[in-house]
Amino acid sequence: MQRTLTKDTINKTGGAVLLKGWVNVRRDHGKLIFLDLRDMSGLVQLVVNPKVSNEAHKNASEVRNEYVLEVEGLVKQRDAKLINPNIETGKIEIEVTKLNVISRSKALPFDITSDTTNVSEEVRLKYRYLDLRNERMKKNLRLRHKVIHFIRNYLTDQGFTEVQTPILTKSTPEGARDYLVPSRIYPGKFFALPQSPQQYKQLLMVAGLEKYFQIAPCFRDEDARADRSPGEFYQLDLEMSFVTQNDILELTEDLYTKLVEAITPEKRITQKPWPRISYKQAKEKYGNDKPDLRKDKDDPNELAFCWVLDFPLFTEQTEEDFFHGSGESKWAPSHHMFTSPHPDDLALLDKDPGKVRGLQHDLVLNGVEIGGGSIRIHDPQIQEKIFDLIGFTDEQKNQFAHMLEAFAYGVPPHGGIAPGIDRFVRILAGEDKIAEVIAFPLSGAVRDPLMGSPSEVSPKQLKELHLKVDLPKEKK
Ligand code: ASP
Repeated sequence: MQRTLTKDTINKTGGAVLLKGWVNVRRDHGKLIFLDLRDMSGLVQLVVNPKVSNEAHKNASEVRNEYVLEVEGLVKQRDAKLINPNIETGKIEIEVTKLNVISRSKALPFDITSDTTNVSEEVRLKYRYLDLRNERMKKNLRLRHKVIHFIRNYLTDQGFTEVQTPILTKSTPEGARDYLVPSRIYPGKFFALPQSPQQYKQLLMVAGLEKYFQIAPCFRDEDARADRSPGEFYQLDLEMSFVTQNDILELTEDLYTKLVEAITPEKRITQKPWPRISYKQAKEKYGNDKPDLRKDKDDPNELAFCWVLDFPLFTEQTEEDFFHGSGESKWAPSHHMFTSPHPDDLALLDKDPGKVRGLQHDLVLNGVEIGGGSIRIHDPQIQEKIFDLIGFTDEQKNQFAHMLEAFAYGVPPHGGIAPGIDRFVRILAGEDKIAEVIAFPLSGAVRDPLMGSPSEVSPKQLKELHLKVDLPKEKK
């Protein structure tokens, strides 16, 4: 007999089925044993009656929650008063004729049949594979999958090519702290994990791809921050050639509007087309650059998208700007150093850099910045000027020499955007924390309690890499 998924049992009333799954809940009524069997598709109630099969009943009496079973039985209509309206298969039940235990389970460290948000983060992450058995968590992972699947199909239909860019790449002073990977073959040298595929996507435009996207992992060695998963996160990274800023905004708007309509039709977008607000207006009117334009903040189904535009190209450097140029300039890029100045403001670059607007666009949803991007500089001279203005030393400039060189071989004007996947899915799922929509997130303390990472490595591994660990005194 072929396996039937629990959700399909409702179409098989009167028939025999073979089911496989986990015991969600077990209720022993003496003579009758009731088991809720759970598989990827949902739940169904099993009734084990010794009058139907003595052996099945004997096997069922040793069954506990979360045992994995293989069950044969007949699909029976329930009496009207026994119908359970809370589950999809609530009108039927399975009269068990055969029951085998495939594997046993220890008692679980926490209850997974109800919301697990009250369980401590440490315990949930240590047993994430159990936490993910919870219906809400599965629903979130499926929602995330649907979002990514929709994005891939939409952009493929629009002529985009998905390209995987390297994970082992080069450390450049780009904004955040890099994760470094020591090279065994070149002792003393390091790869860096990409903070974003920014340089590669621009190089793909030089390569003539014209329309690129990637569901890209990004790595930033930062302390945990609200609304950003520590360590690594995912972005829809995209880039296009021969486009205006308006083209990028319209494509993004169409993609997300259609996505919401297709995947979460119960949600309403507050205003279409999405409002476009200048940075100045946003600051003046809302006191910040990510205004929450929802009409009713208690309504979980409201999605208020907006664009924030006309950002200043530079902000004043602060101590926290990790990336610092030589430390001699007071300017830091407000987006990143590849963002094009507004063409009308070019003359101000020398005179009054603080007044130059950038061709940056921020995508804001319900008061959360869910993405940013820009039209890029494609003139190597302007790029050098920006490096100078942010105080790059010759050595730091040299770290980007490959970009300036690439731009010497016929570079198309280009631009793009990178909306976060985790942040967007969190809002769509109505979750408070980003970790609720990531299968295996790092904890707030930036570690993985499940795998036990980060971890020490063997002296042999360190030796091969020519590394010596010099622990701070308090950790010795
Ligand atoms: N690479 C940028 C970021 O990660 C986004 C972009 O400019 O496309 O924020």
